[in-house]
Amino acid sequence: GISLTAVRKKYGETTVLDDIDLSVRAGQRIALIGPSGSGKTTILRTVAMLEPIEAGSIRVEGVEINGPHVKAHARDLGPVRRKVGMVFQHFNLFPNLTVLDNITLAPRRVLKLDRARAEAEARELLAGVGLADKAGSRPHQLSGGQQQRVAIARSLAMRPSVLLFDEVTSALDPELVAEVLSVIRGLAERSWVTMLIVTHEMRFAGDVADEVVFMEAGRIIEQGPPGQVLGDPQNARTRQFLSRLS
Ligand code: ATP
Repeated sequence: GISLTAVRKKYGETTVLDDIDLSVRAGQRIALIGPSGSGKTTILRTVAMLEPIEAGSIRVEGVEINGPHVKAHARDLGPVRRKVGMVFQHFNLFPNLTVLDNITLAPRRVLKLDRARAEAEARELLAGVGLADKAGSRPHQLSGGQQQRVAIARSLAMRPSVLLFDEVTSALDPELVAEVLSVIRGLAERSWVTMLIVTHEMRFAGDVADEVVFMEAGRIIEQGPPGQVLGDPQNARTRQFLSRLS
C-alpha cells in the first residue's frame, strides 16, 4: 500500500499540498477528484518520487520513499521505487521505438530479463490490452487510445505493486476514452495492484474506485465510498464541485 503522513509541498511561495494524510491499502483503488490546481497530480508525482516534499513522509510497502530526509537517489530504495508505476496524460512513449521495444526496454535494463522472456511477457500484456497485432508498430501509427493502452502495458511490464494514473483520458478524443477506461477497469478486477487514480471522469471514478477523495486547494475535503462522495456528498464544497460538472 501507500501512505502519506502530514505531507506538505510548496512551489515557491505557494503551498500545493497542505498537510495531506492519505493511505491506500494494498489492492485498494482510490480516485482523486477536485478542481484544476487542487494538487491531485502533485500527489501522484510525490508518490512517484518525481517531486520532493518539504515535510511529512510517504511510504510504499512500509518503506519511506519520500520525505525531507530521504535522499533522492538512495541506492537501497531502488527495489521499492521500481514497484511504483505511473501512467501519464500524454502517454510518454518513446517515439522512435516499436511498441514491443517500448514495453521491453525497462524490464530488460532494470529487471535484467533476457530478450526472449521480456518479449514473451510484453506480447502477453499487449494481448491483455487488446493490441496483440501492434507489437511492431511505432507510436505515431497508433490512435491516442491505443498509445495509452501501450503505456499501461509498459507500466505493467515492470510488475508494479502500485500504479498511479494521471488523467489518462484527458488528452483523448471522446470516442477513445471508453477503451482506455475499460482496460483499467479490467485490470482493477483482475489484479491486486494498488491504484491511485486522478480523473475528471466521475462515472469512471465511481465504477473503478473503492474510495473517492475530493481535494481543494491542497487539502483533502472529503473522503468515502463513491456512492457517498459522488452520490450524497456531505461537504458543501464537494456538492458545489459536482453540481458544476453536471
Ligand atoms: P489539474 O486537474 O488541472 O491537473 P491538479 O489538481 O492536478 O490540477 P496540480 O497539477 O497538482 O493540480 O497543481 C497544483 C498547483 O501547483 C497548481 O496551482 C499549479 O499551478 C501548481 N504547480 C504544479 N506544478 C508546478 C510547477 N512545476 N511549478 C510551479 N507550480 C506548479
